[in-house]
Amino acid sequence: MTQIPVFDGHNDALLRLWKGGIDAAIETFQSANAGHIDLKKARAGGFVGGFFATFPPPGGTFVMPKFEPPYDEPLPPMLPQREALAMVVEQAAVLVRLEAADLVRICKSARDIAPAMLEGRIAALLHMEGAEAIDPDLQALDVLYAAGLRSLGIVWSRPTIFGHGVPFRYPSDADIGPGLTPDGKRLVARCKELGVMVDTSHLNMKGFWDVADAGLPLVATHSNAHAISPGARNLTDAQLKAVGETHGMVGLNFGTVFLREDGRAAPYGAIDAAMRHLDHMIKHAGEDHVGLGSDFDGAPMPEGLEDCGKLDTLRDAMRRHDFGDPLIAKICNENWLSFLDRTLT
Ligand SMILES: [Zn+2]
Repeated sequence: MTQIPVFDGHNDALLRLWKGGIDAAIETFQSANAGHIDLKKARAGGFVGGFFATFPPPGGTFVMPKFEPPYDEPLPPMLPQREALAMVVEQAAVLVRLEAADLVRICKSARDIAPAMLEGRIAALLHMEGAEAIDPDLQALDVLYAAGLRSLGIVWSRPTIFGHGVPFRYPSDADIGPGLTPDGKRLVARCKELGVMVDTSHLNMKGFWDVADAGLPLVATHSNAHAISPGARNLTDAQLKAVGETHGMVGLNFGTVFLREDGRAAPYGAIDAAMRHLDHMIKHAGEDHVGLGSDFDGAPMPEGLEDCGKLDTLRDAMRRHDFGDPLIAKICNENWLSFLDRTLT
């Protein structure tokens, strides 16, 4: 049986490689290692490309929650812009070096994606998770765009000068706090002008509707269905419906804490839950607006889908779930690729 390629909405491989030291990044990526994404695993699993995120991690005393519901972890404080920018540049440099080593191709337009895949290079879109690195005058945005940035999450949960995110809270919806700030609305407008995709994963409810008001397609690269797993990071039915109506995209997050009905991190049963999320997301957003947003290298993974070398587990689960190959192909790559064709000039 042919392996349907996966083009994925979100991963944190750059963060992991950056933590290991930029000089080691190429070798680490080429050798089998403990991460969720490397060259061998990508080839084995048919992982052909996707959004590669830069993410300045919280420092100081912040620790990720243990995900034992109910939980409600306070968010780390805002990050100074220059501190964030330095980390974003270093992580983007990892991707630039991977490209220089002919391992990935940084795709600045939708037209770059198919040739990269034909060459056997991973087609990478540069994404920034959280806009901390951008100044109020948006100069850094213009420079990062010139360097290849094509997708931007306004927040990674912690607040920025542009907007407010959702905390790690379960159970909870995302209707927490105010919408985008005036600077945030200018940021979204500038992204629209440039052709930078705006990602609403991690954003709170009011911010989500502010992005809709800006006339952009609603995209949540790595979020699931709140009706199945009622954590703050997952989308309500109304939000999923708006994703479909605006011809946007929602990417299935493989993170167990976002899949499991009970909000726990345990790996068992998470693939079955993933099928229930897909059913629900397709029902409300439509089958042309649902893709994958693995969160590889950024979240605890399900049993059997421990890394991108094991994507067949997901394909097999979809087949057992009576998804035919045409629908599986839409979810695995076609929906993201046609969305990018429509929106990324
Ligand atoms: Zn995330």
